[in-house]
Amino acid sequence: MSKDLVKKVFDKETTRREFLKLTGKGIAGFAVTSSILSMFGFGEEAMAATALPEGLLVVDRSKCTGCQRCEITCTLQNDGKIQPFISRIKVSENYNFGTSGPKMNYQYEDGQMGNLKMAPVTCKQCREPFCANACPKNAIVADPNTGARVVVKDKCVGCGTCAEACPWSLPTIDPETNKATKCVTCGACVKACPTKALSIISWEDISKAHFFSKR
Ligand code: SF4
Ligand code: SF4
Repeated sequence: MSKDLVKKVFDKETTRREFLKLTGKGIAGFAVTSSILSMFGFGEEAMAATALPEGLLVVDRSKCTGCQRCEITCTLQNDGKIQPFISRIKVSENYNFGTSGPKMNYQYEDGQMGNLKMAPVTCKQCREPFCANACPKNAIVADPNTGARVVVKDKCVGCGTCAEACPWSLPTIDPETNKATKCVTCGACVKACPTKALSIISWEDISKAHFFSKR
């Protein structure tokens, strides 16, 4: 490994962008495997959820109680009201049956009707975002500072094309404003979670773990 690359891996200023360059992956196709997460003490219920400016958001399904504090805090911070339906992190959507919906063997699957495990999900900030590519008004753009795909409110006409285009239906149209809402990577949900089901691993630590996992 070149000296430059070693410096990048251990540099305290390692950023999300540098990490993505190092791994050569888009955010949605993360190379953060369960074995890397296990280096931070996570069990098999943990999933890499998305990239925040300060690090990787990890969801630990074994700790989520479905209390919806993350959803409430998200809309309070970003919309000035409590309206879980438009939250950028979604827990209640998968409350009964998990992310794959009702299935024949639902009793063994996620959700209150199954194994009682919740499945909080949020925008994966795709490198090739279906939502932005489908938007007829070009109202979803990359924030120049964070790289997050964000909605430009003045341009959004509330048509819902982004929500239909997203494979996970993560954008939501606010029925009061008729504008799309989607994750802006603020991290408010993480701070609000009382059980630490949501946590952030810094990009510096992820880069180090990635480095050592290759040795
Ligand atoms: S809303 Fe969906 S399609 Fe758009 S960036 Fe997020 S995960 Fe990707
Ligand atoms: S705040 Fe934490 S425990 Fe509560 S629903 Fe959200 S992720 Fe689950």
